[in-house]
Amino acid sequence: MAKDAGKNNYSVFKAIKNNIGIEQLTLESSMRKALQNEEFVLHYQPQMDIETGEIIGTEALIRWNHPVLGLVPPAKFIPIAEENGLIVPIGEWVLRTACKQNQMWIEQGFIPMKISVNLSTRQFLKRNLIDNVKQILSETNHDPRYLELEITESMTMDVEYAVDVLGEMKKLGIQICIDDFGTGYSNLYYIKLFSIDRLKVEQSFVRDIMTDKNDADIVATIISMTHNLGIDVIAEGVETEDQLNFLRTLRCREAQGYYYHRPLPADQIEQLFTKCTGE
Ligand code: C2E
Ligand code: MG
Ligand code: MG
Ligand code: MG
Repeated sequence: MAKDAGKNNYSVFKAIKNNIGIEQLTLESSMRKALQNEEFVLHYQPQMDIETGEIIGTEALIRWNHPVLGLVPPAKFIPIAEENGLIVPIGEWVLRTACKQNQMWIEQGFIPMKISVNLSTRQFLKRNLIDNVKQILSETNHDPRYLELEITESMTMDVEYAVDVLGEMKKLGIQICIDDFGTGYSNLYYIKLFSIDRLKVEQSFVRDIMTDKNDADIVATIISMTHNLGIDVIAEGVETEDQLNFLRTLRCREAQGYYYHRPLPADQIEQLFTKCTGE
C-alpha cells in the first residue's frame, strides 16, 4: 500500500513535470491491473464482399471496460500502452482471445472465416513476436490461414527487419494486411518485397470520397494499384450507399464500415454468421 502510494506520488510529480493530463495518469495506473481483472473485451467488425453482400471475415477491435470511466476507446489507451510497454501483454491477450474466438466459431459449425488482428509497433518490433504467434496458434489450435495480421506502413521503416518478420509470418501461412494505407510513406517496391496480401484503404479518404476530388483520386489510385499488383483491397469506414457504389465502380471487392455493421460483441456477431450446410 505504502509502496503504491509512493509510486503514485512519483507519477503525479512526473505528470506535472511532463505536463501529462490527470486522465492519462488514471488510465496508466489502472491499465496495469486491467488485464488480470479481465476488463478488456474484443468486439468484432464484419468485413464484407461488396458483390455478394456476404461476410468474409471480421476484425478484432479492443475495448476497455473501465470500472470507473466506463467504456474507453482504443484511441485513448493504445497510445499510452504503446508508450509504457503494456501494449505487449495486451497485444498478446488480443491475439490469443481473437484466435480462441475464431476457432470456437469454426468448431461451432459456422463457415470458416478469417480474423484480422491489429499489431502495434512495439509488438511488431519485439524480437520474440514470431515465437509468440506460433505459440498462440498452437495453443488455440487455430489454422494460420484464417489469421490476418494488420500492420501499418510506419512499422516497416526498418526494411530488413520487416522483410524478415513478414517472411516468417508468410511461411507460417498467416496473411498480412497494411492498415490505414495511404497515410504513411508508401513504396510500391516494398509492398512487393513484403509480400503483402491485402491493403486496407485509410478511412479518412473513404469518408470524403464523394465530396473531395483528391480523396476520390487517391482511393482510385490505391485500388487500381492493388489490381496491378494482384493483391486484395478492402475499403474501411464505409458509411453510405453512395460511397459503396462509388467503390463498386472502382472495382473494389471488399468493404468494412458502419454502412454494414459496427463492431459488435461476439454473441451478436454470431447471429450474422451462416452455418456450414451438408456433410
Ligand atoms: P483501425 O485498426 O484502423 O480500426 C478501424 C477503426 O474504425 C475502429 O475504431 C472501427 O470501430 C472504426 N470504424 C469502422 N467502421 C467505421 C465507419 O464506418 N465509420 C467510422 N467513423 N469509424 C469506423 P476503434 O475500434 O475505435 O479502433 C481505433 C484504432 O485503435 C484502430 O484503428 C487500431 O489502430 C487501434 N486498435 C483497436 N484495437 C486494437 C488492438 O487490439 N490492438 C492494437 N494494437 N490496436 C488496436
Ligand atoms: Mg485495423
Ligand atoms: Mg484502419
Ligand atoms: Mg489505425
